[in-house]
Amino acid sequence: MPFLRKIVVAVVASLLSGISGSLAADGIPSSAIAACTKLSQDPNFAHAFTGSPQYDHDISHWSNASSLPSLCTMEPSSPQQVQKLFSIINDTRSPWAVKGLGHCNNNNMSATYGLQIDMSRFSQISLSQDKQSVKVGMGVAWGQVYQVLGPHNLTAVGGRSPTVGVAGLSLSSGYSWVTNEYGFAIDNTLAADIVLPNGTFTTVSESHGGDIFRALQGGLNNFGIVTSITLKTHPIGQVWGGSLTISGDLKALVDATVEYSAKPSNPKATLAVEFLAKNGTATGLIIMFYDGAHPPPGLFDAFVKLPNSTGEVKTQSFFEFVQAGEVAASPTNRATWYSAPVLKWTRDMVEYVHQQVIEYSVKLAKQSKSGTLVSGNIEPFGPQAYGFSRGSAWPHDVDHPYNTFNGLMMWSDPSDDKALFPLNVEYHTKVWNKAISLGLSKPKGQVFFPPNYSQNITPVEQIYGANLGWLRKLKQQVDPWGLISLTGGFKI
Ligand SMILES: Cc1cc2nc3c(=O)[nH]c(=O)nc-3n(C[C@H](O)[C@H](O)[C@H](O)COP(=O)(O)OP(=O)(O)OC[C@H]3O[C@@H](n4cnc5c(N)ncnc54)[C@H](O)[C@@H]3O)c2cc1C
Repeated sequence: MPFLRKIVVAVVASLLSGISGSLAADGIPSSAIAACTKLSQDPNFAHAFTGSPQYDHDISHWSNASSLPSLCTMEPSSPQQVQKLFSIINDTRSPWAVKGLGHCNNNNMSATYGLQIDMSRFSQISLSQDKQSVKVGMGVAWGQVYQVLGPHNLTAVGGRSPTVGVAGLSLSSGYSWVTNEYGFAIDNTLAADIVLPNGTFTTVSESHGGDIFRALQGGLNNFGIVTSITLKTHPIGQVWGGSLTISGDLKALVDATVEYSAKPSNPKATLAVEFLAKNGTATGLIIMFYDGAHPPPGLFDAFVKLPNSTGEVKTQSFFEFVQAGEVAASPTNRATWYSAPVLKWTRDMVEYVHQQVIEYSVKLAKQSKSGTLVSGNIEPFGPQAYGFSRGSAWPHDVDHPYNTFNGLMMWSDPSDDKALFPLNVEYHTKVWNKAISLGLSKPKGQVFFPPNYSQNITPVEQIYGANLGWLRKLKQQVDPWGLISLTGGFKI
């Protein structure tokens, strides 16, 4: 394969030097060759082929399992260049993909064998004069946004890990440390600059292009390439939080999680409890957050007092808190995660997740050469978190406050991909079925999966539900030539 790829690249190179001819391909459509040839003829396009640092950067992802060896890559730096890209894609019908910070779960979403578009040159972060909003380019990571807003005692509703992209998170759902207080990231966008597949560059908001604006609240790459997004800002001062790790007997952690979840949710507080297991042995990771210098007495005491825990919980700036929670990935990292909707974290559910994490870590060790870790995340968001929706593409409302159970599998050898993606689906399906049997979830058609935590086998109906009707009509209007069908993801 790599040898044939080199031949294709050599053919492209010869084309670039003016020699035309018919092209053989290593599974690479001639349309991609035509597209890469065209864009490499424009000196203003920052493009790259395999073997260059730009190429490696442009195709890279947090999980290597989400990357594909594109024929060429391109870093546009203006909406006009994105318009030209759509024109090239339309002329050639090349497969393409657009990437923000590359933290997605699937290799058909922000990766392609054809033309990879990397948004890193859209790097602006500008706070409005009245400080009510911040305009952010789609190549920015959430940590950068928090760093700029911090000195103004402001924040935005965004990723819990600093390296996650504003792009994918603010166009999908967006679970944040302040979601209990202000809703999801998609509930806190004010406007978006977008190049539609028909070539139009426009700014959409509630008052202009409102249907496209709502479609982007979960619609990911279905309606075009967003170049920047304007986010509501929120006041923030010193916060309290941090993480603790606990090993050995996790019963006290299970008890504390059940007790916390049974109390009415405090809008300023957020908890994430993660069971992590390697070949049958589990540890616990507890991340606590409170929007204020000190949490009310009793709120997190059961966690803070857990015996044998290590780590640090303290009063600090929001940026420091998020920075400390970076989820680093090794250079060989391969991973997949998925969703299961769970209404409440009762004792039966928490114990079941703990047990399944252990069970699947044993299966991971048996069924793969390089599996390292299985995790299961319990994130008890309160019903109020779901009450900020403005009619978004991804359905969420206060009457259906389903938490997303989110588990992760990690490994390093690409030959394990085939076994481990289905194994992770099996693991989540078991958790989902258990929740249904306990009356804590509903079957397909009655609950919806957030696009950023879903695997590519998820039917699009399971993500957008009844909204598919208006979304499909809208898509036909903005994409008359079907250019979105040439990229991957959850296609509306
Ligand atoms: C370590 C880690 C931590 C995470 N933490 C959180 C969290 O706290 N909360 C949460 O909700 N999720 C979280 N996620 C999931 C994350 O939100 C999604 O994976 C998200 O899609 C990542 O965005 P990205 O820009 O980094 O990804 P990318 O892979 O670059 O893009 C994801 C999707 O967005 C589309 N897209 C990218 N740029 C554009 C654009 N300019 N225009 C149109 N479409 C575009 C892509 O085509 C793709 O479909 C986390 C993931 C990881 C790996």
